[in-house]
Amino acid sequence: MRKENQKILCVLYDDPVDGYPRKYARDGIPELVRYPDGQTMPSPSATDFTPGDLLGSVSGELGLRKFIEDLGHTFVVTSDKDGPDSVLEREIVDADVVISQPFWPAYITSDLVAKAPNLKLAITAGIGSDHVDLQAAIANDITVVEVTYCNSISVAEHVVMMILALVRNYIPSHDWVLKGGWNIADCVSRSYDVEGMQVGTVAAGRIGLAVLQRMKPFDVKLHYYDRHRLPVEVERELGVTFHDSVESMVEVCDVVTINCPLHPETEHLFDQEMISRMKRGAYLVNTARGKICDRNAIAKALESGQLAGYAGDVWFPQPAPKDHPWRTMPNHGMTPHTSGTSLAAQARYAAGVREILECWFDDNPIREEYLIVEAGKLAGAGAHSYSEGDATGGSEEAAKFKEDAER
Ligand code: NDP
Repeated sequence: MRKENQKILCVLYDDPVDGYPRKYARDGIPELVRYPDGQTMPSPSATDFTPGDLLGSVSGELGLRKFIEDLGHTFVVTSDKDGPDSVLEREIVDADVVISQPFWPAYITSDLVAKAPNLKLAITAGIGSDHVDLQAAIANDITVVEVTYCNSISVAEHVVMMILALVRNYIPSHDWVLKGGWNIADCVSRSYDVEGMQVGTVAAGRIGLAVLQRMKPFDVKLHYYDRHRLPVEVERELGVTFHDSVESMVEVCDVVTINCPLHPETEHLFDQEMISRMKRGAYLVNTARGKICDRNAIAKALESGQLAGYAGDVWFPQPAPKDHPWRTMPNHGMTPHTSGTSLAAQARYAAGVREILECWFDDNPIREEYLIVEAGKLAGAGAHSYSEGDATGGSEEAAKFKEDAER
């Protein structure tokens, strides 16, 4: 039976400070037919947006308003997500569906779930649902879904960029140009070649495998650790070495990239103990989740030189408060959480969210590969990649960013 009078609450990041764009750098985005493993692209019955437009910020509304309101449902979009007076806290009390994103995460904690008795569906517009307390979703029969694969390749491209940027010392060299200098020796005294290095990934899922494939032409030696092993032919084709523990992999690597989800098993995996096992002067690239690394241990390792560089786009909490040590630690290449929200990725996850909502409103099953939690247990992609428990703890700290901005 078709669902009626649903309230959909959607939390998106703010519009650009100069306002919503009226013109774009390019006239469109490439049209893709399938993901690399053959999975089909999101397939809603229609869309009401132009692919390549900014859909992920508040005014973009994921291109959903017309579709939702034409069906008689209510659609509330906000970026105000942290603290007891936030629009999220106010509006969630009678919401049936929440749409949130990893980039500007609405932390759906167990406290918030307790305040939202109608909540039955939590959609992640992207990949990675650790900002939702999955244990609370399991206990309260809330379905959690994400748009699996929508931005995995976007992130893999970003990882390769960050590995090259760190090893070749790109960012400080670019800074010398901005400062009006020509300081070649300053630029190159920390600049190396990637060729010949040992490069390893923690997890060889959609992103991790795509990183391995993209790094292979650089003539590096590849390594990986994962809970499940890749098919033998894939290992052979890549010439990649499997390790049966993260520890054994990091000991031999010059570059380590983290590509596993955040769940209780991976929270603070890269603590001081793990980092001390790495080669002196190794590089660490983390576009998976900030909390997989211990933030103080990372800052200390950069200060001591144990790590030569750290880059990524994921922090904890998000947005990171002004005094977060990763903003000021040496030799880092951090950005805000952008890798999975390129304009091309936005078109895919906006279409994916619409596909999910169409299924939900019409009581049709949601694709298995999008499921994280269903019917009180981990399901679909979630059953494969996550473990039970909650990794959202500590999210209250995100409110500090808002307090800083208001001060
Ligand atoms: P996949 O589900 O395809 O891959 C995740 C992989 O991690 C799986 O192979 C899984 O193993 C593995 N894994 C799970 N737990 C562990 C563990 N304890 N140790 C080692 N490996 C583990 O997802 P994607 O590759 O598409 O995305 C991975 C993560 O990247 C997301 O969960 C998200 O956190 C992050 N991400 C970040 C984005 C950004 O914008 N920065 C955007 C998209 C994703 P197995 O299934 O074999 O058990």
